[in-house]
Amino acid sequence: VITRDKVLEWIKRYADLLAENRDYLTQLDAAIGDADHGANMDRGFKAVLNKMPELADKDIGTILKTVGMTLLATVGGAGGPLYGTFFLQAGMKTTGKMELTLEDWVNALEAGITGVKNRGKAELGDKTMIDALVPAWNALKQAADNGNNLSEALDRCARAAEEGMKATIPLVARKGRASYLGERSAGHQDPGATSSYLMLRAAAEVWR
Ligand code: ADP
Ligand code: MG
Ligand code: MG
Repeated sequence: VITRDKVLEWIKRYADLLAENRDYLTQLDAAIGDADHGANMDRGFKAVLNKMPELADKDIGTILKTVGMTLLATVGGAGGPLYGTFFLQAGMKTTGKMELTLEDWVNALEAGITGVKNRGKAELGDKTMIDALVPAWNALKQAADNGNNLSEALDRCARAAEEGMKATIPLVARKGRASYLGERSAGHQDPGATSSYLMLRAAAEVWR
């Protein structure tokens, strides 16, 4: 199972990966956006890290909702509110829980992704974070249904996110700033799909 402490470790690991990849995410956003995705995510998760001490004894729902509200309060643009919604909705699904089974995580991730879809209206293939998140969820769900253990399921999930991220390269953006470029957005990897891959990779690393 995924304990409350493991959820906190995941958030911490994701914050570290965002700090390490800040310039990389910014370069990706410079090509098809406004060169702030790395700074946005890093600023948001630095603020989240500052909230960690008060989250130490809270349930998983409270932890995830606090992450979401902190991102909504500290990150502007498209990415911040979308990730804020993701964590808020995942937190709603896990209210009061002190640990998560693989099935609980499947349901929480689904709720988070549904929140992003409802807020951003992006579909698969629009060259957004949805292109990493949806294939990742599908792989996770399939692995769970096939009886794979937690670490195998998380690995498959992260690998599918990575493939989805890479598959954004040839796509023409239909949502967000990159869509203003039209055909010129093709040939570049989507920054939000990349930060979503990092989020699921962090889970696979920490929860195995
Ligand atoms: P902004 O574009 O406002 O500067 P960021 O640079 O932080 O915000 O985030 C950009 C990322 O947000 C994009 O790479 C894309 O993955 C994601 N994104 C933008 N619009 C949407 C949307 N409508 N639905 C889902 N994801 C989106
Ligand atoms: Mg941007
Ligand atoms: Mg911006």
